[in-house]
Formats: sequence, C-alpha cells, structure tokens
Amino acid sequence: MQRDRFIEETPFFTDEHARLAAGVADFAAREVEPLAARDEGPGSDEHFRALLGLLAQADLLSYSVARGDGAPLDARALCLVRESLAYHSPLADLVFVMQGLGTYALSLAAPEHVRDFWLARARSGRSVAAFALTEPEAGSDVSAVQTSAARDGDSYVIRGRKCFISNAGLADFYTVFARTGTRADGRAELSAFVVGARMPGFRVTERTELVAAHPIGEVEFDGVRVPAEDRVGEEGDGFRLAMQTMDTFRASVGAAACGMARRALDESVRHARTRRQFGVTLAMHQLIQEKLAVMQTELDAARLLVYRAAHLKDAGAPPTLLTRAASEAKFYATEAAQRIADEAVQIHGGSGLVRGAVVERLYRDVRALRIYEGTSEIQKLIIARELLKE
Ligand SMILES: Cc1cc2nc3c(=O)[nH]c(=O)nc-3n(C[C@H](O)[C@H](O)[C@H](O)COP(=O)(O)OP(=O)(O)OC[C@H]3O[C@@H](n4cnc5c(N)ncnc54)[C@H](O)[C@@H]3O)c2cc1C
Repeated sequence: MQRDRFIEETPFFTDEHARLAAGVADFAAREVEPLAARDEGPGSDEHFRALLGLLAQADLLSYSVARGDGAPLDARALCLVRESLAYHSPLADLVFVMQGLGTYALSLAAPEHVRDFWLARARSGRSVAAFALTEPEAGSDVSAVQTSAARDGDSYVIRGRKCFISNAGLADFYTVFARTGTRADGRAELSAFVVGARMPGFRVTERTELVAAHPIGEVEFDGVRVPAEDRVGEEGDGFRLAMQTMDTFRASVGAAACGMARRALDESVRHARTRRQFGVTLAMHQLIQEKLAVMQTELDAARLLVYRAAHLKDAGAPPTLLTRAASEAKFYATEAAQRIADEAVQIHGGSGLVRGAVVERLYRDVRALRIYEGTSEIQKLIIARELLKE
C-alpha cells in the first residue's frame, strides 16, 4: 500500500478516507498508469470505454455519482479519487468525474423513475453522462442561455445549440439546461431536462479537438420532444440545479489539479536526482532546489485549501463559508498546478518538451482546469463577493 504523508499529517481525513486513498493510489498505479500512453492515441472512444469499465469494476463511480436518496456525496472521497486518478491519467479523472457532473442534478431533483434508471446506469458504467449548459453566447454568463424548451401539451420541445460539452458524441444522455421563460430583468429562466442521445432531433454536430486528450464537442437540439413528467425539478429550477452541481464539484477540480501537480513534482525530483550537468546532479544546483521548494510549498498550500473546502462541505458548514472555500480551492490549486507543471518542464530542459513525455503531457492537460466550471476570474469575483458580504 502506498503511503501519503499529507493524509496522515493533516486533520481532514478519517481512517476510511486514508484506506480509500491508499487503495485508489494502488489501483491507479496498477491499472490506469499502463494505459495512460493511450489517452491521446487512435481508438480514443474504445479507450474511454475501457477506462470507464475499469472504474466501474473497481466500484469507484459510486464516489462521483450521488445515490439519489438524499445522502450527500462524500466530498473528501470525491477529491481523493480525483487526485489519484489525475496523477496517473487526467483522462481517467475526466471519465470518473463526468459521470457525477452529468447526474448530480438528477440525483437532487429528477422524478423517481428517471433518477433510478440513469443513476444506476451511470454508477455501473453502462451509460455515459454529460452536462450541457454552455452555449456559443453563454459561457461565464449562464443567464444568457438561448436554448429553449417550449411547453407543448404534455411535453417540452427543445431547440438550440450547446458547445464545449464534455463527452459529446460518447454520452448516452445529457442533463440539459434550457430556457423556459424570461425573468423580469431579461435573464433566462432555466429548467433542466434529460435528453437521451438517441432521441429524435438530437445531434452531435462536432467533436472538438483540444490541446489535450478530452472528448468534447457541440450538440444540437432540433425540436427534441421530452415528456413533461421527465423534467428535472420544477420549471425555473434549472439555474439553482446547475449552480448546486458546480458548488459540489468545484473543489474537486482543485483536487484534480493537485494530482497533476504532484505528478509533475515527483517527475521533477526524480529527474533532478539523476540528470548531471556541470559535474553534479541538477539537484545540487541551488536554483533547481529553489524551484523544487516553491513547487512543494505551492502544492501543499493547494492541497490544504482543497481538503479544507471538502472537509467543510462534509461537515455541513454554512453555504457562505462553503462557497468561498470551494472557490479559493479551485482558483489557487488550478493556478498553482499550472505554475508547477511549467517549472517541471523547465527542470526537464529539452526532454520536457518531447511529445509524449509525462511533464509535456501534464503541461497541456493542466491548462483546461483554469477555464472549466468557472474560470479563475469568475472564482475571484465569487471570493470577493462573499468577502464583502461578511
Ligand atoms: C475542457 C473544457 C470542458 C468543458 N466542459 C463543459 C461541459 O461538460 N459542460 C458545459 O456546459 N460546459 C463545459 N465547458 C465550458 C466552460 O464551462 C466554459 O468554457 C467556461 O464557463 C468559460 O466560458 P467561455 O469559454 O465562453 O469564456 P467566456 O465566458 O467568454 O470568458 C472569456 C474570458 O473572459 C473572462 N470573463 C468573463 N466574464 C468576466 C467577468 N465578468 N469579469 C472578468 N472576466 C470575465 C473569463 O474569465 C475568460 O478569461 C468546458 C470547457 C472546457 C475548456
């Protein structure tokens, strides 16, 4: 069993968390690491499904897919699993977390028949989930959503377009946020729906290629008819459900960042101990030591913020405290991870730029984290808003 001194030395974790962290670290090193080289290769859809199968077999998806019986997700467990998976394969982390992001609103508010069906399928890896909120004109500004859901008898008819939807093309169902009205201030009144990938009128219009391995794309709803009895929550609940999903998963983005940063630091320490220049190892040069010291300190700070936020969530702290802690964790950890990955490349010199080198891949993988689920700028706005309220 691998030991993680951070888990032993900080007060955030129970014995059960420590056992989970050690077990997942072993599983990821044994099962996920050997497959990581395929994250960017051809046959990526089959590879994605193979990773999903592995996670389901190890019963890890139950840490990201809420049960739907009112029991909250264990935020520390969610973060520990993300950190471990991201250490070995950022794609495996994405496969894991999207099952949760794509089902969380369902677990909170879907009618029983919808909830039971999709949550069970997502948890067992039989169905792939997606979360469809962003649109060409509605990124950070969610209230600008244009996709509409018009009531027509006992169903809703959905029309519109969504972009940057993770798992587009692979997903079996999408939790879709659409406009069912306009508020007095002109902003969208949103409602949530589940749309199956085989429903008439639904199309994946683009599989978008990003800087790193990440299945993502654009989808279109051309008169997709959804039974009203399948609506997720009440009409107008969509904004709240989307924000509750983000609030629950926000700190865990920081945990994924910590996993990538920890791997970048481990690779750097290994390289600094073995690479010799000017007659000594790189580790003997004080400028390299300075880099390693800053990387280690920033990583520790990031993990402290992430697990403080997760611990507060599990302890049922008041929402104002939780919101700020989760935003601080996401903001700091993702920005620090970017700096750490960059320094890791610097310590590796030219070998850090070679396509396929671990630190080269991390340098690209880490970039998206500062953008999705609320950019760093949006996190700063939230932190300042909460601070000024106090
Ligand atoms: C890898 C990846 C996966 C994603 N997965 C999903 C998904 O599964 N489902 C989904 O619905 N969406 C997804 N998204 C979309 C993501 O949530 C948006 O990209 C994000 O919210 C930012 O929106 P935008 O890209 O339109 O940028 P914009 O909102 O146009 O922002 C552009 C820049 O302006 C800044 N900015 C915007 N508003 C302000 C402001 N008020 N003050 C200061 N600065 C501001 C931003 O911080 C950013 O730097 C994903 C994105 C990426 C990159």
